[in-house]
Amino acid sequence: MIESITKFFTSVFGNQAGGGKVFHASQKCPECGSKLWAEAGAAEPVWLCPNPDCPAEVRAGIAHWCSPGAMDIAGGEKLAAQLVGSGLVMNVAELYRLKARELTRIEGLDTAAAQKFLEAIAASKKRDLWRVLYGLRISGVSADAAQALGRQFPTLHHVLGASAGQLMAAEQVSAAVAQSIVYWTGDRQNRDLIKRLDKLGVNLKSELYGAAAKPGAA
Ligand SMILES: [Zn+2]
Repeated sequence: MIESITKFFTSVFGNQAGGGKVFHASQKCPECGSKLWAEAGAAEPVWLCPNPDCPAEVRAGIAHWCSPGAMDIAGGEKLAAQLVGSGLVMNVAELYRLKARELTRIEGLDTAAAQKFLEAIAASKKRDLWRVLYGLRISGVSADAAQALGRQFPTLHHVLGASAGQLMAAEQVSAAVAQSIVYWTGDRQNRDLIKRLDKLGVNLKSELYGAAAKPGAA
């Protein structure tokens, strides 16, 4: 898996001047031991673990999904570590199956706080598609790129069914980002996650579809 990811990043990001991902042999993930990678050319390297099942990655994924810039689930960023540590949530779909009595097992969370968190999770089901796309933490998909995709495609199924060339029709979506989305979609676990989100009632339609680009956008 790691080997294939290395090849993927080399093939997709390797030829980009100044951009791209590089592995660092001496930097290992303290939780799972995988070699870490960082954005090449960034002023401050941010080391990331490429193992999708790494507890640190799962926590970061849940926290990102809940963050105000993504699905905006109040309290989720703070609770991510406990939700994962307690085994209650191992992927973002499992947030939508949580029960109040499970949540009250988390230290510091009383019934009222648990209920409030569940309401915030339920409200997030109505968020626009671009927030889902950005929340999924697909490599290279910024909030701007997610909004551009939302303007170009009516549903998530259209985005994930598009070829790299079709994805690049959205402004803000480079060849590398388009390849990254195609690669992400090629993973069965990712496709299953989307099916689960759909079944659980998370909105996968774009309100931005057909809208004009933001003023000032390239
Ligand atoms: Zn790790």
